[in-house]
Order: sequence, then C-alpha cells, then structure tokens
Amino acid sequence: MNRLLQPITNLKGVGDETEQLFNEIGIQTIEDLLEYFPYRYDDNSLKDLADVNHEERVTVEGKVHSEPLLTYYGRKKSRLTFRLLVGRYLVSVICFNRPYFKSKISIESIVTVSGKWDKHRQTITAMELQFGPKQNENGVEPVYSVKGKLTVKGMRKFVSLALRDYLDDIEEILPDDILAKYKLVSRKEAIMLIHQPKENAQLKQARRRFVYEEFLLFQLKMQALRKIQRTQSEGIVHQFPEKSLEDFILKLPFPLTNAQQRVVNEIITDLQSPYRMNRLLQGDVGSGKTIVAAIAFYATVLSGYQGALMVPTEILAEQHESSLQELFAPFNIEVALLTSSVKGKKRRELIERIKNNQIHILIGTHALIQDDIDFHKLGLVITDEQHRFGVEQRRLLREKGEGTDVLFMTATPIPRTLAITAFGEMDVSVIDELPAGRKTIETYWVKPNMLDRILVFIEKEVAKGRQAYVICPLIEESDKLDVQNALDVHSMLTEYFRGKFKVGLMHGRLTSVEKDEVMRSFSENKVEILVSTTVVEVGVNVPNATTMVIYDAERFGLSQLHQLRGRVGRGSEQSYCILLADPKSETGKERMRIMTETNDGFVLSERDLELRGPGDFFGKKQSGVPIFKVADMVHDYRALEVARQDAVTLIHSDSFWTDSQYESLRLYLEESGILSGEKLD
Ligand code: ADP
Ligand code: MG
Repeated sequence: MNRLLQPITNLKGVGDETEQLFNEIGIQTIEDLLEYFPYRYDDNSLKDLADVNHEERVTVEGKVHSEPLLTYYGRKKSRLTFRLLVGRYLVSVICFNRPYFKSKISIESIVTVSGKWDKHRQTITAMELQFGPKQNENGVEPVYSVKGKLTVKGMRKFVSLALRDYLDDIEEILPDDILAKYKLVSRKEAIMLIHQPKENAQLKQARRRFVYEEFLLFQLKMQALRKIQRTQSEGIVHQFPEKSLEDFILKLPFPLTNAQQRVVNEIITDLQSPYRMNRLLQGDVGSGKTIVAAIAFYATVLSGYQGALMVPTEILAEQHESSLQELFAPFNIEVALLTSSVKGKKRRELIERIKNNQIHILIGTHALIQDDIDFHKLGLVITDEQHRFGVEQRRLLREKGEGTDVLFMTATPIPRTLAITAFGEMDVSVIDELPAGRKTIETYWVKPNMLDRILVFIEKEVAKGRQAYVICPLIEESDKLDVQNALDVHSMLTEYFRGKFKVGLMHGRLTSVEKDEVMRSFSENKVEILVSTTVVEVGVNVPNATTMVIYDAERFGLSQLHQLRGRVGRGSEQSYCILLADPKSETGKERMRIMTETNDGFVLSERDLELRGPGDFFGKKQSGVPIFKVADMVHDYRALEVARQDAVTLIHSDSFWTDSQYESLRLYLEESGILSGEKLD
C-alpha cells in the first residue's frame, strides 16, 4: 500500500492539534505535505553588499567594530545598535526589542546578521543574529505559507521529517523517454530539491520538472477529453448541396476575407463530419464573426435543422435578430427572438412555432439553455462572448442537445497560451484579419484636466453629424471610490450641450425595456451622445458613432478597453478613442501607452496577460483558467507548448495505451474521471 497516503498524524510530533492546523491549509496526508511547496525562498548565502539592492534581505558576516549601544523607549521597547565591519564596508546594525543580546556582543567578535539592507543609510535592520561565523549549511531556505499557530520553522521541521522517512516512497509518474529527452530530474529528487535546495541551480532543476509535469498532466486531460468527444460523440452529419451554400456566400454584400473563408471551411467541415463540433472562434472586434455564424446557420437550415444563437445581453440579442432577419429574408428563413420581454400568449405561440420547425433560427440570451424549449431538430448552437464560461459550463451546454454541434465565439482575443489551457479540449479557429479599408481608430491618452478641450472636440464631431459614447466606471457616486459615475457625467453633459444635442444614459440597472429604448434612440441618432457604463462593451453596433471617451480609463484592463474602443470605427468615418486617465502606477501608465500604440487585439491581449496575470485576464471568477502550483503560463509558455505537443502525441499513439512506462499517466487519467466521462474540474 501507498505509505504516502497515510494521514499526517503518522509523522512524528504531529498530534491532534497539529493535524487540525495542517487540515486548515489543506494538508491531510504525508503526500499532501510533501507536495506543499514553498512559495518563496530566503537566500541566506553570504553576499557582497555591493550586489545587494536597497531594502533587500541580506545575510552578512562581520567583525564588531563598536561597543553595542542599548536605548529604551516606550514601555518595554528597546533598540540595540552597533557598527559592523563587513569586508570593506563599515555598516550599522539595528536590532529591536532584544536587549539581552547586548552582553553577547563585544568588539572584534564575529557576528552573522540577516536582515533588511538600507543602502542609503548603510544600515541593516536585523531579523536574525548569530554569534560567530555563519553556520547554517543551507544557502537557500524555504518559506511556506502558514496559518495560525503553524510557523514557518515548524513547517521546515515537519517537511524535513517527512523527507527523511518517506522520500523513498515517492514514485515517478513521467515516462523514462520524456525524462531523458528533457533531462528532467526524477520526481523524488525534485521533491527533495524544491524543499531543500542548496543553491539556486537546484531549485531551478526542481521547478523545471514540476512545470513540465503540471502542464503535461493538464494537457493530457484536455487531449483525452478532446479525443473522447471526437470518437464517442454521435454528432449530426449535416448534408446539404454545397452549391447552395456557395450561392449564399456569393450573394453577401461583400466578399469574405481570406481569414473568414478559412474559418468557414473549418466550420463547414465540422458540420458535415460525424463528430460533434466543439470549436472556439476567435476574432477581434469588427473582424466579421457574425457573418461566419450566419453562414454556419444557413448550412444548418439547408440540412433540415434549426439553429440557436445565444448572446450575453438582450441588447445584443436584438441587434443580431435584426441583422440576421435582414440577411435571411430573401431566403425564406425564419428568424425569431426569445428574451424575457417576450411574455404570455406571444411566448406560447413562439414556443409552439419553434417546436413545429416554423422558426429556423432562434436568438436569445444565455437563459435560453435554462428554458426548456422543445426544438423540432436543433442542429447547431452558437454562443457569442462565451469566454466567461468554464470547461464545465461548456459541457453542460453541449449536453443540452443530442449531437448538436457547438460553436463558441469570442471577440476577446485570447493569447495562445491561455487558449490552449482554458480551452484546451476544443478546436480553435482564428479570424486574424480585418475587412479591407478599415481606418485605424486614433487613440489619445489625456489627463482629466483637459476635459474642456475634449468637450469641444465632441461638439465638433457631433456637429458633423457623428455620435459619441462617454464611458464611466460606475453608475452612481460612491464614497469608496473616487471615480466618475454615469449619473453625474450625464447631468454635466446634458447641461453643457443643452439646446444643441441630446445626451442619453445607459447602465445595467435600467430595465430591459428602458435599455432598448435608449439603444434604439441612439442607433436612430435621436440621441447624439450616450453616457454609459461598460454594458455597451460587447457587440453593440452603431456605425455612426465615431468618438469614444473613457473616464478613469486606468481602471479597466487592456482587453476591456479594446472592447470598448471597438464600439467606434465601425463605419467609414475616421474614429477616435480618448482615454481620460491619471494613473499613478507604472503599469497603469504602461497600459495607457500601449493602448495609444496599437489597435491589434492580439498584441493587447498578450500584454494584458503579462501585466495582469492569467487569473485576472478574463476579469471574472469562473473563467475556467486552471491554477498551476509551480508553472506560470506567461513565463513558462515554451514548456506549455512542448507539453501540449507531447500530450497530443501521447494520446494519439498506441503505445500510450499499452506500454508499461506510461502506466502512471494512464492511472492518473483514469482517476481524473476523464476516461469514463464522469467529471472535469
Ligand atoms: P464582430 O466580429 O465584431 O462581431 P461583425 O460581424 O459585427 O464583427 O462585423 C463588423 C462589420 O464588418 C459589420 O458591419 C459587417 O457587416 C462588416 N463585415 C463583415 N465581414 C466583412 C467583409 N468580409 N468585408 C466587408 N465588411 C465586412
Ligand atoms: Mg459580434
């Protein structure tokens, strides 16, 4: 039996109380403890002070150069200072609240001090003092995240014990050929080194191994899932005359871009194939995803099935309905909208018509999956802006229809590293090209005190017949945050433009009827200026709007700013985006600069990932981004690519399913429930 799975109480010195403390940080077994990695390391190796940065922790050994001076202040508070000669430096050492050290320090004696280095004052504030030369043999000491009565020192002790008694029980899970290929240390050695490295090089070796292991295990799950979905799913084979589809494409008001043509081919191939499509379609704002969706729906309807389009907001649902209505009107294809505002008799009638196949394409919000709607023959579900869904939700959606093909669309360009992790089990299509003739949006970053000039600018643009958005982070005033709110900005602008232009107000607290009303007047140009929160972020399409002003722009992530900016530049006129921001932090300033320098959503998304990290990238919990313990998608992206490729190769090779060197990996997959199709986390 596996001794590593024994409860932590089997370790010497761990009684009920300590067990409780361990449980609180998620440690139940010996294995849990061994896999509880340090989150950082203190470097206690001796260093030349010339190489140490201001405020960095340092350990030095030196000769005492002055009698220690002890002063008391306040109740029981004391300060001990002395001069220490460290190599060619004469520095001061301060030690708080340890008056008893005074008697141990005498001129000419050797002392080892660890503490924070103040470069300007040439002073070390001591955290640890040893009398005599440096003793500790480990240069690098692990620091664990601990809670309550459990101390870092205690953790170090328990981990040492566990390493001493259980190290030999640690089994390898990576196959020999992979270990050899990448010169990775064994799992046993890596566990040892990650807890007790003697030097940085050893720590690096341990990390390298775990980074690869984490990525490989995760990618194996994704690729296994993908393979199972492909081979075991009984999808619909959509059959239709290709000529009819080509005619439809030729009748579109514009030729497809090369990128659109490519992704249409990928999607149509999926539709015609016997497996269920599970595809992510990425395309920057304005790259023309809607028409791609329409072509896929057309093929679906040609083959005798119905389609459903799900979007995050009712405004978007309505917009899609009107554009698809227009597009499909000449082809006898019935498009309908089902939102919460369709009620009573109308709703019942609509549901009846869906059931009888009198409606071919149904559009609604994501609530469509919750409603129990009986389709006659649902063949294709497309969801727009779905990146907020996790893997599990995507599965739920797929389970709704029998064999229904599923296409997920997103306008947030997702960096490749994230795409292959958060969406690792899916096929990915990318529209990486904008329709020809688009003007780039001119973006400016200005300080809020330039507001007067911006108002003049808006006035000039609107006087030419154009329209403007003004975005605020909040709906109403907040005593916690000093940022602009939509209500105040709306009154200010209404006052400013009184007698000239109408100013509308849009935010998430309006009812859907009120929102429609506002959106309609804006798209019909009855309202020239729209003050809004980020509810207009996704998909809203008013081509006559050419100016986008964003208050407190530093509060938004790059991807979100890019989405907001994408509301303009949708027509033939030159468009402008003005970021009102006075960021204090360097990253804040960097973000504003990047926005003014590029219009490329993929470039922005890569930078956003670097600046904010994967956890925050999607801006929401439930983003479906897995948590890795050691690996970091941004910095370890090369390892991620390699591990993914290896996972693909393994899953599709026969030897993986039979060869004994892959047994632990197979076992891992079995335990994860993927192979039996049970669950996924
Ligand atoms: P998004 O990818 O942001 O959803 P849309 O589908 O809304 O983009 O397309 C943006 C605009 O570009 C629409 O007005 C659409 O009609 C137009 N468009 C799409 N594809 C092309 C193309 N190949 N050539 C010219 N205009 C196009
Ligand atoms: Mg769209």
